[in-house]
Amino acid sequence: MKIDIITIFPKMFGPILNESMVKRAQAKGKVKISICDLRDHTLDKHRKVDDRPFGGGSGMVMTPEPIFNAVKALKKTTRSHVVLLCPQGKKFTQDTAKKLAKKKHLILICGHYEGVDERVRQELVDEEISIGDYVLTGGELPAMVLVDAVVRLIPGVLGDKNSLNFESFEGNLLEYPHYTRPANFKGLCVPSILLSGDHKNIEIWRKKEAINRTKQRRPDLLK
Ligand code: SAM
Repeated sequence: MKIDIITIFPKMFGPILNESMVKRAQAKGKVKISICDLRDHTLDKHRKVDDRPFGGGSGMVMTPEPIFNAVKALKKTTRSHVVLLCPQGKKFTQDTAKKLAKKKHLILICGHYEGVDERVRQELVDEEISIGDYVLTGGELPAMVLVDAVVRLIPGVLGDKNSLNFESFEGNLLEYPHYTRPANFKGLCVPSILLSGDHKNIEIWRKKEAINRTKQRRPDLLK
């Protein structure tokens, strides 16, 4: 898989690309992630990427030309899937992450200021994704969230592929509670079933806990 991220703040991505699971996924050759500095696709000497909105009003709008140029340069085939990070987009979920993890090539566009010129949405974008009902300064953090959630789903990225089958949102459930050593921590004891070695009953207990937890916290998932 290849992921290209179009941004005016390329340096923001260093920590996410060069640490932990995303770093290992790249080292294993499971994904290639490249950062595209939008200013490299401007045509003026000031490398300007924004302008005042037609019709007046506050803030600046990202001009279409550099974004069109950048996407044209990055889009090698029709299989490229162009995503605009945008608070008005479809809310990002685990299901969306799974669908995106099957794509060969993602191009992520990070907006800034008041957002991008509407013609970018009309002509270039296959999907608009929001990471939640709040407004951030730019699309960089949403792009990082998306990259992390997608890359860990690429087959072979996580050491133990079973961990993907037993995590929150699989089968519309939240995951069961976890405990580790010590068995007694300041008088707080691990449920005895987990120390029993009875794997069949542990599985039943975990399933019950997952259902109870989902009922309490996210009844909407059970619908
Ligand atoms: N004026 C826009 C609006 O009201 O819908 C908000 C623009 S926001 C300040 C600037 C950029 O941050 C957006 O173009 C988008 O790329 C990104 N952004 C902000 N919040 C986001 C969210 N919840 N999900 C995804 N991207 C977001």
